[in-house]
Amino acid sequence: MMKPEIRIFDKARKPGGRVSTKEIFDGEVRFDIGATMFRYKMDVQWSGKLSNYNLFEIWETNGVRIDTKPIYDEHHHYPVSGMESIAKSMLKDHPVHQSMTLKSIHETQNNIWNCEFYSNQDKRSEFMTSEQLILTLPIPQILDIFSNSQENPKFERWNQFLKPYNDYRKTLVCLCSWKNWTPNINSNGYKPNEKIPLSTLLKRGEDWEYMSWEHIKYPNPSLKGANLLVQFSAMFSETHFEYWMDTSKKPTPEYKEMLVDGLFEIWNSPPPDEIWNHRWKYAQAQMPLLGKEGALLLDSEEFLEWKNLCKETGIMILGDWLFGSKIERIIGGVHFLIHNQIL
Ligand SMILES: Cc1cc2nc3c(=O)[nH]c(=O)nc-3n(C[C@H](O)[C@H](O)[C@H](O)COP(=O)(O)OP(=O)(O)OC[C@H]3O[C@@H](n4cnc5c(N)ncnc54)[C@H](O)[C@@H]3O)c2cc1C
Repeated sequence: MMKPEIRIFDKARKPGGRVSTKEIFDGEVRFDIGATMFRYKMDVQWSGKLSNYNLFEIWETNGVRIDTKPIYDEHHHYPVSGMESIAKSMLKDHPVHQSMTLKSIHETQNNIWNCEFYSNQDKRSEFMTSEQLILTLPIPQILDIFSNSQENPKFERWNQFLKPYNDYRKTLVCLCSWKNWTPNINSNGYKPNEKIPLSTLLKRGEDWEYMSWEHIKYPNPSLKGANLLVQFSAMFSETHFEYWMDTSKKPTPEYKEMLVDGLFEIWNSPPPDEIWNHRWKYAQAQMPLLGKEGALLLDSEEFLEWKNLCKETGIMILGDWLFGSKIERIIGGVHFLIHNQIL
């Protein structure tokens, strides 16, 4: 799905970014700790015309195979081997240099970009050169790289341009695992016997904003017990971000007590055998340039400005701040830009 001449460097140990699946107990148990589902349809508004796109068709055209199941309603799906398999399948056969953190960028006299990476594996700096750069990090991390780099008016132009879009919500996440206990799944609105079994609840605006019984989403017949994933609201996550977990990702004692009490209140559950916490500082962009919902609005002045800036600086900056914080908007949007030779 990727042009062969593109070289990818990523600071994480595995590909996926905020589409991330945690595997525990030797891969027997799976949780999606970032994005949990995607819509397969998206629209683009360009040159006064509305066009519809379908993620399944985009993958098929590009030879990408992902086995999925519907979840939540007829519009949403998830891959049966975890959300992260979307990134893995799309990158199939394309080499990715993992554990490489971009630190600074320097432009040579011949307008070549010299990028300084720190290899977390080899514990040393490495340098790569390229005529063009595509940056897909959250904006605050891009601004850090610019400020660590030698001054360049092109960085200043991007700094100014990105300012209105640099607004992200935080999200705290909690994973709970019971070896021998299972919930009364029929309570709290869950409908496991429907055509699309509902094992996921979205309570927008409430503290426990999203709950998903991951042992139903990713069943493993050889295991008893239950696994619950909880994502907390923007307000809760902002308030409790700092002391949410210790260095081994266990909840700090105050939050452990709060979680155990909350689980008992909602599910009448015994204390889980294991709890892991996670936190996303830049979970979702709040003010995307092409709109948060509905069609991607490519006829706007801002999009024209973005296109010109990419051309004039030799740096293209993509990500959820541009397309909106939804997988289908990002994949569909990039597909559209490639097909219309904008990318
Ligand atoms: C908790 C949560 C729930 C969500 N739920 C959904 C959902 O259900 N459905 C949906 O459609 N979307 C959901 N989203 C949003 C979706 O995950 C994001 O919008 C999308 O993944 C963003 O993709 P991206 O490529 O812009 O950024 P990212 O996925 O964040 O990719 C950025 C990449 O840059 C790398 N990086 C960062 N710094 C450096 C550096 N210095 N050097 C090198 N590499 C670096 C990171 O390792 C990462 O791989 C959710 C997000 C979160 C956090």
